[in-house]
Amino acid sequence: MGKDRYRRQTLVKEFGQRGQKLLASKHAILIGGGGLGSNSANLLIRMGIGSIDIIDYDTIDKTNLHRTSVFSEKDIGKKKASILKEKLQSVNTDVKVKAINKKVTSKNIDSLISNADVIIDGTDNIPLRLLINERAIKHKIPWVYAGVFETVGMVMAILPKKTACFHCITPKIPVSKTQEIPVLGSLPATIAAIQCNETIKILMGKQPAGLIIYDVWNQCFDVLDIKRNPCCPICGKK
Ligand SMILES: [Zn+2]
Repeated sequence: MGKDRYRRQTLVKEFGQRGQKLLASKHAILIGGGGLGSNSANLLIRMGIGSIDIIDYDTIDKTNLHRTSVFSEKDIGKKKASILKEKLQSVNTDVKVKAINKKVTSKNIDSLISNADVIIDGTDNIPLRLLINERAIKHKIPWVYAGVFETVGMVMAILPKKTACFHCITPKIPVSKTQEIPVLGSLPATIAAIQCNETIKILMGKQPAGLIIYDVWNQCFDVLDIKRNPCCPICGKK
């Protein structure tokens, strides 16, 4: 561990040396390295997560640049996961960063997430989140949902069989009618930071906040206490 790297962080009484040591022992899997995922990976690596697998099959497009602080113009056309590994590994060489240039499917997800302590959602679509949810709950792995839409972001940490799951809240998630989701450039970094907070908290055994909804345009911050749906086919008592 680099000398004094985390000094200001370990001075935080809620976190301290205990939190730092614990964080360094954890393995995160990030699915999706776009606007949200790149910002979340950036924070987790800087804060000292033990290791992180960054999974994304996509390449960097010019239209990605307005909402991420990691990619630059010279990265256009290159693989998101590889560039994230290259850039973020140099930020903190104590963290084991692995790039996986793969599309996550129902066939490969089990092996991709098998050793995760936590799964970070950097995806942009409901079907993939439902797949992550189902398998995360099956394998008892906590995961942290995050989504952005126009000026609104949502985050929820999901503890298998302890909190409501993504399936329980899906009816509350806005669905974009267009293929390209409209998003204010500053929003993903804001929501990724909240996602990172929730991730650190659950890794330290703290209870998640609930469904966090932040509308940055109308300055409206809300936290909903979502109850588990007993009839949920994924997390309910069958
Ligand atoms: Zn559920």
